[in-house]
Amino acid sequence: MEATPLDLLVIGGGITGAGIARDAAMRGLRVGLVERGDFASGTSSRSSKLIHGGLRYLAQGDIGLVLEAARERRALSHIAPHLALPARMVVPVYGRTSAGLLKLKAGMWSFEKMAKVPDEERHAIWKTEELLDRVDGMQTANLQGAAVYTEYITDDARLTLETLKSARRHGACLANYAPATRIEETPRATAAAGGSAALPALRTRVRDELTGRERVFEADVVVNAAGPWVDAVRQLGGDARARMQLTKGIHLVLARDRLPVDDIVVMQTEDRRMAFVVPHGDIVWIGTTDTFYPQPEERPEITRADVDYLLQATNATWPDARIVDDDVRGAWAGVRPLVAQEGKSPSEISRRDEILVEPNGLISIGGGKLTTYRQMAERVVDQVVERLGRRVEDCRTAEVPLVEEGNPAPMDRADIDAPAIEDAIENECAVSVCDVLERRARANLFAADNGLGHAEAVAERLGRRAGWSDERRQREVDTYRARVAEDVAWRGNP
Ligand SMILES: Cc1cc2nc3c(=O)[nH]c(=O)nc-3n(C[C@H](O)[C@H](O)[C@H](O)COP(=O)(O)OP(=O)(O)OC[C@H]3O[C@@H](n4cnc5c(N)ncnc54)[C@H](O)[C@@H]3O)c2cc1C
Repeated sequence: MEATPLDLLVIGGGITGAGIARDAAMRGLRVGLVERGDFASGTSSRSSKLIHGGLRYLAQGDIGLVLEAARERRALSHIAPHLALPARMVVPVYGRTSAGLLKLKAGMWSFEKMAKVPDEERHAIWKTEELLDRVDGMQTANLQGAAVYTEYITDDARLTLETLKSARRHGACLANYAPATRIEETPRATAAAGGSAALPALRTRVRDELTGRERVFEADVVVNAAGPWVDAVRQLGGDARARMQLTKGIHLVLARDRLPVDDIVVMQTEDRRMAFVVPHGDIVWIGTTDTFYPQPEERPEITRADVDYLLQATNATWPDARIVDDDVRGAWAGVRPLVAQEGKSPSEISRRDEILVEPNGLISIGGGKLTTYRQMAERVVDQVVERLGRRVEDCRTAEVPLVEEGNPAPMDRADIDAPAIEDAIENECAVSVCDVLERRARANLFAADNGLGHAEAVAERLGRRAGWSDERRQREVDTYRARVAEDVAWRGNP
């Protein structure tokens, strides 16, 4: 990356940065991307892992976002069908009359018309008896039936990794463990496009965490895709007023036999938000919460109150299940990088993205969703190209498959074997036990033993490659064990 002068440097290796790097590289730009920690270590491994059709934004009256989500879902299932698995979403409706169900039906009907939902994915209405037949053990008081429609399940970290690998195949240079530490103007100006004033090319200082060396990359345009850290990166180039508002969401993982559901089922929470249970393989995950969170963190704390909130909703929906702390075999938390909107509650803040431009030309992208990452990237790269004032190829990210050759890796690799470890290390830039087991295999969430049984083999393989001492190998295993324990540390709290 140092050897090649760059058209574009992307800061942040979550789904947003990955999407931008892929799009820009496919249009023929010279692209570099730096990620502070591991790829997808931020919010992009901590979402609910759903590719939304957009129905949820209809309730907020945001038609633009409804259509964008619906279109992007189609695009994603075209370029990466192995990372967009259709699943039935069941929304039970309670009330003294069937008015609520009818209202939901009308909403679905207009959504499907607007979003051009294909026939086979159109909604159905289940009467109460059918619902109880299909979803065992539900609470029945005032149950009027359910609306049923199609959502898609993904693996957020795998989607990010495959997007990055595609960017690399198209010529992008990528570095993890490479935090940007400073952004400076250079005397050189970029081309002035369309009569606008030329902006300085930018020099970004980056610390190479693996060697301790500082490296300097010069690029005509720098894009800040740092998710929850967008404000912090904006401030690397000078004063910038905070624009982001973060909210935290947590998820709990249970063995599927403790809550044997075949579909995603929506639950009512105490404060009348929608939470849901998502079945996948032999687990289910339950999510999510939405509470303001003051600062960006890779692993925000999961509190007793967060857990109680989800367990309460679960046990209210399935009274006989009696889910308790010990049923929870894993958990994760993340922060949503939302653009602040004064006076709104966490769930009311728009999930729309916004592009911000600093006086020095730094382009930042805040807000957005996993679901809409491709479209966000296209908008950002359009702006980059305009700044460069150059003719480039058209955007092709909605047509070219994410994995162009060979068989794509399965969505999660919790049954991790030696070739998967090898692949993670040799082809996917994993340099620690956590990189392999948390983001490449997802074993901490999806494997019955949280991947603990593989930690030593992974450390051994990594250690052989990097020449680690026995002590270093042990430290790696201990760190992984400590993180798995930390995810359920709330168990001990009153
Ligand atoms: C609880 C929860 C549930 C969600 N559920 C869904 C869902 O079901 N469907 C959906 O579509 N969306 C969902 N989202 C939203 C979605 O996950 C996010 O919008 C998306 O992952 C954000 O990606 P990002 O790349 O912008 O941020 P991130 O993934 O956080 O990436 C930013 C990266 O920048 C890096 N970085 C920070 N500072 C620097 C620096 N100085 N130098 C280099 N790199 C730096 C960070 O380490 C990080 O990896 C959910 C979010 C949460 C929190």
